[in-house]
Amino acid sequence: MLRATKDIKLPTTITGSLPRPTWYTENLGVRSFMDAMVNSEFREQYVDTVAIYLHEQALAGLDIVTDGDAHFDNDVGGQSWTAYPTRHMSGFNHADPRPTPAGKGGLLFPPGHILHDYLEARVMPSIVGPVGRGSLQYAAMWKTVQRMTKRPVKFGTIGPELVAFAVADHHYRNVKDRILAISDALNEELHELADAGCQAIQFEEPQIHLLAVRNIVDDVINPAFSVEVFNRTVRGLRAKTEVWCHTCWGNPSQQRMFPRVQSYKSALAMINKVDADVVTFESCSAGGMDLEAFGKEIADKKIAIGVIDHHTLQVERPEEIADHIRRALKYIPAERLVLSSDCGMGREGMSRRHAFYKMVALVQGTNIVRRELGLPEAECLAADPRYSLVVQAP
Ligand SMILES: [Zn+2]
Repeated sequence: MLRATKDIKLPTTITGSLPRPTWYTENLGVRSFMDAMVNSEFREQYVDTVAIYLHEQALAGLDIVTDGDAHFDNDVGGQSWTAYPTRHMSGFNHADPRPTPAGKGGLLFPPGHILHDYLEARVMPSIVGPVGRGSLQYAAMWKTVQRMTKRPVKFGTIGPELVAFAVADHHYRNVKDRILAISDALNEELHELADAGCQAIQFEEPQIHLLAVRNIVDDVINPAFSVEVFNRTVRGLRAKTEVWCHTCWGNPSQQRMFPRVQSYKSALAMINKVDADVVTFESCSAGGMDLEAFGKEIADKKIAIGVIDHHTLQVERPEEIADHIRRALKYIPAERLVLSSDCGMGREGMSRRHAFYKMVALVQGTNIVRRELGLPEAECLAADPRYSLVVQAP
């Protein structure tokens, strides 16, 4: 059900994460969010961080905002995105985190590669019993953020596959059972979030396209199963809220996981089967090479394309973003097009200013096209010339 993007033409948003303020030194660890919020130091730092994230997104003029993934810990390469469920769901031994065994088919990065650190940072609680929601507390987090803004707050979560791949398991018979158990627990959690009023829930990283391009032949872990997992995890949610499917090519430490830019083409027919209202694609870093295919293969759903690149510090110019949007509009009608970042900008290393000006450029570029189409523009206070301090020559 369209909620967050309903009635907005060319809505703008970001994937989720934003760079952490240096003074935000508190971390959750295995504490629950609500338990940590009892502590005045955590509460002040968390609430101030979210307030700044929301303020900067409003200054840029984004239509749909996020909490910047402020509940994640300051882990190497943004590993907390994966580790959060393992530290908070039930069925895991939170007291004894262990290194994740390297699985077959996993991407391997040798010592000397920056992502080798990321692999070493996969030290997570193991599964020792039936998995349940535990203290994920997504609804409490979302409420804490939504009460600070009138713009819809999109809430994102990692999906069950990557959590299942990242942990040792002493309970389930096989990886499929493990994935399905995590899927069911997440589904319960996401229903509570939707019932609380969240207008956009984003499932991050279904493995459909990642499995398709790697041609891994496996009776269990394959693109069709990945679609099944997505649809099981979000079942019933679209009757209540807007469901987003975030597809990307990986983003630990803001790194590409593949040596070359990948095309989504071989996976689009499968991606079209996900039970979602909006599907997101990286497009900026790929130079928009799949735009025509997105328009052809993704029927009925809204299509969010990334028009700013989270890998680079070069801030895109509004004119190049407008060009990208015009190219997209040749294949995707304005009613179905959403503008976003390729992926999150807060996984490691980007400064807050870079992220801020990328969001400002995103809205300015979209405004150029809105103007051409006679659509209402978003207010972008950050780009208002009346408040410039630069002294003009006489
Ligand atoms: Zn991503």
